[in-house]
Amino acid sequence: MPRLSEVLAALDALWPPARAEQWDAVGTVCGDPDAEVSRVLFAVDPVQEIADEAVKLGADLLITHHPLYLRGTTTVAASTFKGRVVHTLIKNDIALHVAHTNADTADPGVSDALAGALDLRVVGPLVPDPTDPDGRRGLGRICELDHPQTLREFAARAAARLPATAQGIRLAGDPETVVRTVAVSGGSGDSLFDQVRAAGVDAFLTADLRHHPASEAVQAASLSPGPLGLVDAAHWATEWPWCEQAAAQLDEISDRHGWDLRVHVSKTVTDPWTAHAASSLPSPATTLPGSAARAPLDSDDSSGAPN
Ligand SMILES: [Zn+2]
Repeated sequence: MPRLSEVLAALDALWPPARAEQWDAVGTVCGDPDAEVSRVLFAVDPVQEIADEAVKLGADLLITHHPLYLRGTTTVAASTFKGRVVHTLIKNDIALHVAHTNADTADPGVSDALAGALDLRVVGPLVPDPTDPDGRRGLGRICELDHPQTLREFAARAAARLPATAQGIRLAGDPETVVRTVAVSGGSGDSLFDQVRAAGVDAFLTADLRHHPASEAVQAASLSPGPLGLVDAAHWATEWPWCEQAAAQLDEISDRHGWDLRVHVSKTVTDPWTAHAASSLPSPATTLPGSAARAPLDSDDSSGAPN
């Protein structure tokens, strides 16, 4: 059975902490390097439900994508919700380790997992890491579809392949636009519109898109280089596929070292949005003649219409 320090060394080789963004807080939050590890749980968010799940599972190590303390802290008192997570973990001898932006830009990284979930062929990074001579690391991925689909069909594919959330999938742009190439970025992606536009892709799949950047990107692309469809999924749903990818990577390492680790992926939906109230009336735009671009998704798609 490996010690925590051995497992952490393997994780740091997959996702070197030095490759995290300056503002990020990655690495080990709590845990005794000499403790033995037999059971590992991967999750997106280090929230109380996940800490409780790790306890129930008998995990020794919880690995999350999001940091617990992104901006540092002066207290881990259990009277704070984050401190309660720390107490739960330490009382139950569970270590917490974070791989965030160092996992985003890795090869394979978070967006490779997102592309894989949708069966997209990855062509290369959307924002290449200049320090990677192979040109494979970086933020986001540019992908090709196996066959052209309309934006509406592509959004339905995302809804079917990504884990279900209350938000579902929103799309912006003409749903009948034909999509052959797509940029994907797990997590919040509206800072990447310049690169998306420069890549000349037909669509962009990401999360947390806001009104103005989304509106301006769609309007600008309609002039040049052509229509851009936006597919906005729940933040959690776009990053969850990484957990499965990362678990498979750790499984492989465990096999190679004869560690016999039991590696699990949490299926608990920790997206903060818990319900979606769709309007019972069509939005005003859908009633305008010739406004097919604002028609709802197919009625058999359970992801929720973009109203
Ligand atoms: Zn994220």
